Amino acid sequence: MERHFECTACGKCCQGWLPLALDDAIAHADRFPLFVLWTPVRPGGKSFDLTARLGVVVEPKRKKKAAVRVTAFSYVPSHLPCPALLSDGLCAVHETKPQRCKTMPFSGARTEHDQTDLLIPRPGWECDVSGSAPVVYSGKTIVARDEFARERARLEADAKVLKPYAQFMLAGAHKVRQDVDKMALRPQGGHVILSFTTLTPRLPQVDIQDFAAKQLRVMESFADLTADNPEHVTEHKRYVEQAEEWRQISTA
Ligand code: SF4
Ligand code: SF4
Repeated sequence: MERHFECTACGKCCQGWLPLALDDAIAHADRFPLFVLWTPVRPGGKSFDLTARLGVVVEPKRKKKAAVRVTAFSYVPSHLPCPALLSDGLCAVHETKPQRCKTMPFSGARTEHDQTDLLIPRPGWECDVSGSAPVVYSGKTIVARDEFARERARLEADAKVLKPYAQFMLAGAHKVRQDVDKMALRPQGGHVILSFTTLTPRLPQVDIQDFAAKQLRVMESFADLTADNPEHVTEHKRYVEQAEEWRQISTA
């Protein structure tokens, strides 16, 4: 079956959580509120084997396994715009935008034959999926697959850092293990969100003082943005806590 899709640059998908390749997270540390996202995928779930290969596998109960996707991400509340989104719907960092955005609507974190639902625009999105839009997916094969291949290559490279990081955290941080196991057993799924500071010791290319100063400003800005808003209590608390952590690092 052939699927048509064309981006009309409406900017409507540029909101909420944005998974980031490690280099993109580092390059945009002055813009995105960075955290680490852990997402368990249960056997039989989409792209389970790929997730297991790029991430880690946990066994929260005997004979109950889950693959866990681990990624850096921009933690923006679901109804707030990406900090790079301009008022005209265009992207302020178009030339250097994250690989995740370049690969849209496809995802390198999924197998090539598991992309069909990503081509269905969510309510309010203005993607053109009419017959006059180009065919982008045919027989479960991506027609122009350069960006998809680039994203997959970056995920493979990131796995060399994220896999040992995740194994170390699961082995050494009891609370992390507990939370990941709990999410892995929940029928509706879920996520575990950790501070980006748990990852920075594994990123030798990061100048930690400079990075902390950038993230401090970002966290403070998002804390202000979400203050006194009952819809964003959870996010606000994280921004405030994270700002404090970065403040301590930046002034150490
Ligand atoms: S970086 Fe640009 S393209 Fe990506 S979500 Fe933000 S505004 Fe959209
Ligand atoms: S919602 Fe669709 S049309 Fe709008 S920017 Fe995102 S991909 Fe493009």
